Amino acid sequence: MIPYGRQQISEEDIAAVEAVLRSDWLTQGPAVPAFEVALSERTGATHAVAVSSATAALHLACLVAGVGEGDRVWTSPNTFVASANCARYCGACVDFIDIDPDTLNIDIGLLARRLAVAAQSDALPKVVIPVAFAGRSADMQALHSLARQYGFVVIEDASHAVGASYLGQPVASGEYADMTVFSFHPVKIITTAEGGAVLTNRREWADQLQRLRSHGITRDPVLMHSASEGDWYYQMLELGFNYRMTDLQAALGLSQLQRLDVFLERRRQLACRYAAQLAELPLILPSPSEESAWHLYVVQLVDASRRKAIFNELRARGIGVNVHYIPVHLQPYYQAQGFTRGYCPVAEAYYQRAITLPLHAGMTDAQQDEVVSVLKELLQ
Ligand SMILES: *Cc1c(COP(=O)(O)O)cnc(C)c1O
Repeated sequence: MIPYGRQQISEEDIAAVEAVLRSDWLTQGPAVPAFEVALSERTGATHAVAVSSATAALHLACLVAGVGEGDRVWTSPNTFVASANCARYCGACVDFIDIDPDTLNIDIGLLARRLAVAAQSDALPKVVIPVAFAGRSADMQALHSLARQYGFVVIEDASHAVGASYLGQPVASGEYADMTVFSFHPVKIITTAEGGAVLTNRREWADQLQRLRSHGITRDPVLMHSASEGDWYYQMLELGFNYRMTDLQAALGLSQLQRLDVFLERRRQLACRYAAQLAELPLILPSPSEESAWHLYVVQLVDASRRKAIFNELRARGIGVNVHYIPVHLQPYYQAQGFTRGYCPVAEAYYQRAITLPLHAGMTDAQQDEVVSVLKELLQ
């Protein structure tokens, strides 16, 4: 089976993890801060806080943005469930803003209209979470000006977009988002097995993120509510979690980061090859992008009624296709909160047509040619 996504592990990666295994620290050692510095340098964000997953990163980002019981968080329905669940962990209500059919990202025109209505009834969101679907940022510039106008915090879910850029700046530079979340799951651009990070330019948020990932505990006497009682002493200032990344994971991440540009270049090449080779088929192809990280290559069948049959046939022929995403508001959990079919018609129609083709940094031209030739056979 040619998988839709797969990690690339080198001998250097293995050596980096092995070195940690032979060192004094498996967790809370020097590798995590080194990885965080490298993420900051790469993106231009002043602070990077590495955690155990992007899901944990989204949860903590919502908490430091002040999301709590009764607040509202808005996101895109065309995403993994974690982009919405983070708000629920904080007791907030989630709402979904339908997508733009061209970019498959949150529809900024619709968002502007929904915000104008919400402002009238005092029902504005505290946080909006745009998702950089497939590796390409939403219209963050327009989103940023709406955030200024209506006073919400922007947390970009850039789980797909590690190494991507937007208007010439690295994603996570903080130009348009208050916080940016990365995922390092093995199918993503670089991996730490499980892992994620929050990037921000706000010092006080970074400090709070660091505390919250480790039980809400501080050893800084300045922050303590009473004098330190000795060198063993710490205080728990707020209810935190164990969301720490281990040094094993961070060493892998740091080693992977050295090859990020190689991975991105190969992904872009493969995306260009698909675009050229699939142009004549009855498919809607992703619009070209120089700035996307090309995490996913999603094609849409012009004839949605054939999606399931074509998907099954591709799988039967060893092509590991997938579907991204089942609209989140159609999940039973969110249906139970009152969202019904038809709530986000663009995302729902897109979902009916979508097939994610294999694309990852280790994929060969021959594998891609095989995907293309099977698709041609099925569609011509
Ligand atoms: C993968 C993914 C997540 C969750 O990432 P984990 O690191 O597995 O927790 C969140 N949002 C999006 C858009 C993702 O693709």
